[in-house]
Amino acid sequence: MSQSTHYDYTADAALERLKAGNRRYAEESFASMDISRVVLKRFQDYGQHPYAIVITCSDSRVIPEAIFSAGIGDLFVIRLAGNVIDDHQLGSIEYAADHLGTGLVVVLGHTNCGAIEAVLSGHASGYIRYIAEDIAEAIGQEKDPYEACWKNVRHCCEKIESSLLIKEDEEKYGLRVIGAVYDIENGQVTFEE
Ligand SMILES: [Zn+2]
Repeated sequence: MSQSTHYDYTADAALERLKAGNRRYAEESFASMDISRVVLKRFQDYGQHPYAIVITCSDSRVIPEAIFSAGIGDLFVIRLAGNVIDDHQLGSIEYAADHLGTGLVVVLGHTNCGAIEAVLSGHASGYIRYIAEDIAEAIGQEKDPYEACWKNVRHCCEKIESSLLIKEDEEKYGLRVIGAVYDIENGQVTFEE
């Protein structure tokens, strides 16, 4: 199967759809989703084919579907404090990429992330330590919270690309893994170039 026909949405088309959805959200300060029975029934009958996988933080100010003006069946979302990547997350990503035919993976960090701040301030106890250790490895000596956020995002992208299955889908079908940061103040998402 050629790259152009493997996915309902190619990685580039999915990325454009996310960008357009975020523009609507950021400019109009408005979010809506059709959760009518008709829509529920449609996805019940035909299954899900989300156009993007979004890995983001559990922060209550970060609502992926709202941020991208997305609805039922649009996004396959994985959330964990600090959007860190572990085996379970990798399994979820591989599932969506391979079984649901999703060709774009976005790691979405955000400004004012408590998990990043915990690492920078050295305050991480209990099980939070496991998350903090991952982030500490990602950010190294970085002290600036915004730069640290980007370093963590890129580190997560690299971890995802260490999956052989993801690598194969990149080479065979043009799957893309891309980092992004959400600004919780103005609602805008900046994608890496
Ligand atoms: Zn966060």
